[in-house]
Amino acid sequence: VDRTYIMVKPDGVQRGLVGEIISRFEKKGFKLIGLKLFQCSKELAEEHYKDLNQRSFFPKLSEYITSGPVVSMAWEGVGVVPSARKLIGATNPLQAEPGTIRGDFAVETGRNVIHGSDSPENGEREIALWFKEGELC
Ligand code: ATP
Ligand code: MG
Repeated sequence: VDRTYIMVKPDGVQRGLVGEIISRFEKKGFKLIGLKLFQCSKELAEEHYKDLNQRSFFPKLSEYITSGPVVSMAWEGVGVVPSARKLIGATNPLQAEPGTIRGDFAVETGRNVIHGSDSPENGEREIALWFKEGELC
């Protein structure tokens, strides 16, 4: 079975979108296997997004992700990685279809509410990065 790491970013938490987001994944039929509210360090944010560390927006991205608590989630299910990316929508919320999370709730790429792993390998990497043994069911 596949697993993905989903994170409600600080803007999503602050705007009260956590329940709505969890509800969409639950209704789709995926299984929640890990959940926590968490203020992450700069080190963790930068490790999570390390593939982007040469990009001009990297310092802003690190600042954004550490600007308040995030909600870390691990979800399990057949095909959960690509399916979660579909539920989330395009990186730029203005290009995200209505009905997707970013399409419905965001306008700026730099404040796009939610993260989802882009491959099963990164799903496992990110779950191991954000959760300790024993925090997953
Ligand atoms: P995520 O990894 O957060 O799920 P994504 O996979 O859709 O998003 P990535 O290319 O991995 O997109 O970029 C990671 C995050 O970096 C984006 O979600 C966004 O918050 C930020 N980001 C990406 N491109 C830009 C940009 N051009 N300007 C500002 N922020 C950006
Ligand atoms: Mg990504």
